[in-house]
Amino acid sequence: MNLILFGPPAAGKGTQAKRLTAERGYVQLSTGDMLRAARKSGSELGQKVAAIMDSGSLVSDEIVIALIEDALAQNKTAPGFIFDGFPRTVAQAEALDAMLARHGKQIDRVVQLEVDSQQLLDRVAKRFAEEGRADDNPESYKVRLNAYLAQTAPLIPYYEQKNKLRGVDGMAGIEDVATSIAAAIDAR
Ligand code: AMP
Repeated sequence: MNLILFGPPAAGKGTQAKRLTAERGYVQLSTGDMLRAARKSGSELGQKVAAIMDSGSLVSDEIVIALIEDALAQNKTAPGFIFDGFPRTVAQAEALDAMLARHGKQIDRVVQLEVDSQQLLDRVAKRFAEEGRADDNPESYKVRLNAYLAQTAPLIPYYEQKNKLRGVDGMAGIEDVATSIAAAIDAR
């Protein structure tokens, strides 16, 4: 089972991806986590993307596609993948389909966390206070939300046409969201 957790920034994708990893052994592939790790390591890539990430804009398709390509090659025996924060553009989605096909795999399901963006602002303000992620500050978060609406939301019809998309209520509690996601994954 290869799954995309889909939704705007701070919808809870990372939290739910970690649960699925623990419960089902799927491998979580989060381009945001990979880019943050690159920054922490001080690598050339990390330095290149730092300012873009802090602004809330998307880094180039080329960079994130290469990260996913490496991760797929390194996890050939994974029982499944959970893509979290990737793909974020139609070009990334097309590249993902092609990369998976080369490994004899495909996206089986796209679970969309349906959320209220106004309430997300509160969630992000709380996370900013607790974790201090630079791109959770209100200005950057607005840029991230706009990037989602302009560049990522077009993936909804892309996956709808392939009949892969299932929506769940992302504003429910963490346990209830997890239950709905499990049902969306296991439904035929
Ligand atoms: P995230 O934690 O997924 O919200 O990612 C944090 C930041 O990393 C985003 O605001 C982007 O600057 C960058 N990023 C992560 N994933 C992608 C992606 N798939 N495409 C472009 N930029 C990304």
